[in-house]
Amino acid sequence: MSLLEGRVAVVTGGAQGIGLAIAAAFVREGARVVVGDLDPGTARETLGSEVARAVRCDVTSAADVSALLDAARTEFGSVDVMVNNAGITRDATMRKMSEEDFDQVISVHLKGTWHGTRLASAIMREQQRGSIVNISSLSGKVGMAGQTNYSAAKAGIIGLTKAAAKETARYGVRVNAIQPGLIRSPMTTAMPQHVWDQKMAEIPMTRAGEPEEVANVALFLASDLSSYMTGTTLEVTGGRFM
Ligand code: NAP
Repeated sequence: MSLLEGRVAVVTGGAQGIGLAIAAAFVREGARVVVGDLDPGTARETLGSEVARAVRCDVTSAADVSALLDAARTEFGSVDVMVNNAGITRDATMRKMSEEDFDQVISVHLKGTWHGTRLASAIMREQQRGSIVNISSLSGKVGMAGQTNYSAAKAGIIGLTKAAAKETARYGVRVNAIQPGLIRSPMTTAMPQHVWDQKMAEIPMTRAGEPEEVANVALFLASDLSSYMTGTTLEVTGGRFM
């Protein structure tokens, strides 16, 4: 029996990188998946047209996130798993960061995760079953210079996850978070080489992680393997900043 047989999952920011790897892992384990992204691209074809759908969605818009969840229910009948993964970076020191860059990062990560968590949990409460996985970051645990916006948003996702877990546990809904470290994706490969090297030096396992290694942990939290876990944060970091 596959881990997500018969389940329907929604993954935001699922057109590439970690989100696409999560969607692929879910499909491999029997789920039908709806990906939401600013540009869904070829996600549906990559994942398989029978078991996947891809919808244009800006997670900062409640109407878009609501429509994404509606698409999952219309196409596949329910929403059993919600992964709030969409993200951006707008790095700069506080001296140089614009207010717009601060607001945009908070809006995509924190408000986007809030929309996804509250709207998906409303559906899951009715079903008396569901698992929500929020993608935070190691940056939200330790705070990274040049990322006051991103660190604040990613730390905020941990508080949001715990509060939502407390509100929804009695209805059979679990809410957990993942804090990835340095993962090889379009977001990080664009980084200047000296910044990459500096981060690599901090990793006890001496390598960057692959999107599939985050996806496997998302699969664990999405599935019944983690049936007695809620409000937790799992680090996928190769031991960095343990
Ligand atoms: P990525 O390759 O840049 O993928 C992020 C995806 O989110 C992109 O497809 C992007 O679309 C989409 N997105 C951005 N803004 C959106 C919005 N408003 N609504 C819907 N979709 C939106 O990044 P990644 O590395 O896979 O990151 C995935 C998540 O993991 C993010 O939350 C990130 O903060 C977190 N994370 C990553 C790492 C890492 O080392 N890679 C470490 C810790 C945490 P566009 O390309 O069209 O903008």
